[in-house]
Amino acid sequence: MRLMPLGTVTFVIGLAPVNFASVEMPSRLIDRAVDQIAGLPGVGRRTALRLALHLLGRNEEDVRRFTEAIQDMKEGVLSCSTCGNLGEEEVCSICLDGRRDPSRIAIVEDLRDLLAIESTGHFKGRYHVLGGVISPMDGIGPADLRIESLLGRAGNPEVKEVIFALPTTMEGDTTAFYINKRLQGTEIEVTTLARGVAVGDELQYADELTLIRSLQQRLPYSVASNANNTGS
Ligand SMILES: [Zn+2]
Repeated sequence: MRLMPLGTVTFVIGLAPVNFASVEMPSRLIDRAVDQIAGLPGVGRRTALRLALHLLGRNEEDVRRFTEAIQDMKEGVLSCSTCGNLGEEEVCSICLDGRRDPSRIAIVEDLRDLLAIESTGHFKGRYHVLGGVISPMDGIGPADLRIESLLGRAGNPEVKEVIFALPTTMEGDTTAFYINKRLQGTEIEVTTLARGVAVGDELQYADELTLIRSLQQRLPYSVASNANNTGS
């Protein structure tokens, strides 16, 4: 094999990598396991084979614990009947927490975004997990998301504000637009996360849209500097 460095990229000349999609496995059982692992997002057959061989090398007790954890998670994790957060009870710990402010609801796409906001420790309201965003390209419409239950919650007079904490993508914007329209005529204040130059970024490297939004959504210095001081 001859390697030709070109800048930071290395090209392999002459030998194409093995195509694991077409290689026949020595065992039907390995083949089946590889098929299952390769069905996970972001895992190709090459990686799936490496993981399968790794599991094969572990002792039986380890592998039993591994499969049991996945099985138990699938059987035991429930979606909160109020907000869609995940937990092991019908209502999640955030919805049950009386110290959380019920007047503010942050709308997030999924659990990962909820956890990201929770990790800041700066949001004391509650959440509504949509379970995705509107994406006509992927065939996901409003009826596929927890939007009706959000509107139901918003009808409760104790709710004063909903905060869009959605992805800054076309799908995220479409979802916010749709929900905002459905909330028209209510007393609820609808807000969205600020979009602007990220902390630590240099202006010259920011993209044009981010810079435009940063200018349009500029803040009084006293507000921005206060936010910087508290790290939120
Ligand atoms: Zn909940």
